[in-house]
Amino acid sequence: MNVGLEGGCLCGRVRFRTTQAPLRTLACHCTFCQRVTGSSYFAESMFPVNAVEFNSGLLNSYAHVSDGSKKKVFVHFCPNCGTTVSLTFERWPEIRGIARGCYDDPNAVDVSSHIWTESAQSGTALPANVDCFAAARATLDGQAEPCTRYAAPVMAKVKISR
Ligand SMILES: [Zn+2]
Ligand SMILES: [Zn+2]
Repeated sequence: MNVGLEGGCLCGRVRFRTTQAPLRTLACHCTFCQRVTGSSYFAESMFPVNAVEFNSGLLNSYAHVSDGSKKKVFVHFCPNCGTTVSLTFERWPEIRGIARGCYDDPNAVDVSSHIWTESAQSGTALPANVDCFAAARATLDGQAEPCTRYAAPVMAKVKISR
């Protein structure tokens, strides 16, 4: 399933293909992801860093220091159209995130968890039957955090029991 996913940026200069299925695909509602996308949340798939091949070295990058971990997140974007195609992480150098919206077929992957739901924007629905985490999936020292699976969709900014 999902082997050899292809995609690219808005203008088409940056193209990528993956050599395996994603490790997981998540929707992140943190304030960084809201700002970097200019949108409500960022859906991205995580891959081993060497499982994504790009057509060339055309991506520019911007290093942002995370509020929480104080480690850098690298935003990789097309220098021509500005589309954020990928993230890499100082904390997890073996991982590369690929923006779900950049796949030629975004529906080739399913979102398996929503994270940082405590900062999700009003009007955002958290779906039923996926793992929802109030903050990250794990603490900064690597302890797994509890998650909630709702029986029915829940609107963000309504008090969510944890
Ligand atoms: Zn582009
Ligand atoms: Zn985020």
